[in-house]
Amino acid sequence: MTKRDYYEILGVSRDADDQALKGAYRKLALQHHPDRNPGDHAAEEKFKEAAEAYSVLADSQKRAAYDRFGHQGVSMAGGGGGFDPSAGFPDLGDILNDVFGFGDVFGGSRQRRSRAQRGEDVRYDLEISFEDALRGLTADIQVPRLEECGRCKGKGAEPEDGLVTCSMCRGRGEVIYQQAFLSVRRTCSQCGGRGQIIRRPCKECKGEGHLRRERKLKVNIPAGVGEGTQLRLSQEGQPGSAGGPPGDLYVVLKVAEHPIFERSEFDLHCTVPINIAQAALGASVDLLTFDGIQTVKIPEGSQPGARVRLKGLGVPRVNASGRGDLYVHLDVKVPSKLTRDQRRLFEQLGEHLPAENEPQSKGIFDKVKDYFL
Ligand SMILES: [Zn+2]
Ligand SMILES: [Zn+2]
Repeated sequence: MTKRDYYEILGVSRDADDQALKGAYRKLALQHHPDRNPGDHAAEEKFKEAAEAYSVLADSQKRAAYDRFGHQGVSMAGGGGGFDPSAGFPDLGDILNDVFGFGDVFGGSRQRRSRAQRGEDVRYDLEISFEDALRGLTADIQVPRLEECGRCKGKGAEPEDGLVTCSMCRGRGEVIYQQAFLSVRRTCSQCGGRGQIIRRPCKECKGEGHLRRERKLKVNIPAGVGEGTQLRLSQEGQPGSAGGPPGDLYVVLKVAEHPIFERSEFDLHCTVPINIAQAALGASVDLLTFDGIQTVKIPEGSQPGARVRLKGLGVPRVNASGRGDLYVHLDVKVPSKLTRDQRRLFEQLGEHLPAENEPQSKGIFDKVKDYFL
């Protein structure tokens, strides 16, 4: 089954901002919510489809991956099958709470707020040199990230007597209201669903439950990476809460330009100036490449703009074998200032060379003449 375009599902343009996305998602979620369409399987599918589309587009990294590579990009960037409904529906609690009074309809989510949650993914931008992108390297990076506070074990309260049971929900984390013939559950607003309230904040982390630390990491960058390549370091993102796993760290590469070489996919290009004698007679030119000095054989009669291919001297293909090629573009320089001797030689040469342009202009006159016979 082919998957529909996420923007199309939400009915928004490709440059829609967060507010527009959320609005479109809210509208669809309310319209197709299973509680409003009992037994309607099609509505349930639409509901899930909208949630999936929103979960991707609301995440700037996943959205960028989707914009560039489509559905496949999302499953690559997400480090898994893209969307996992059991992980909960994005923002649905907030969106539906005011209408239905509860969050999730597919999994008993009454304890969801206090349940283990995966930490956030973190992006780290790393600039590397053109050569390093070709050769690969191990880079040392320092990533600021949150770490669980050891004193309070992430609870944010002084050990022993820092926490008290919430008086509003009596520790249950939710409150039940009677609304017409429905009993509606809401997350307790006083404790945010945790069932406990901090009476004395932890001295170490000031009640945050985590501390900001610089973390040193080594990143193995394979040979052949390019601008915008993303490397995922599993579980090196922000820590999870309530025992949930940490998020991932994405190292996004920026590759510096090179003064001589340009890159196109896995091929390299450079331009070498030669004089008209070298172009006409052929020549050997030494070129300093990433594989040391290479002799470039310029064939006899090379035209301006011609290129010589050096097979296999391009960029290594990431996650595959082999390398691209190196193309040397020939820039034939016509001398603009001649010495007296050079001028004499060119004049002699000119007398012996056929005038390439004359037969053509004659041809045009002949053709024009044909029309006026
Ligand atoms: Zn603490
Ligand atoms: Zn409470």
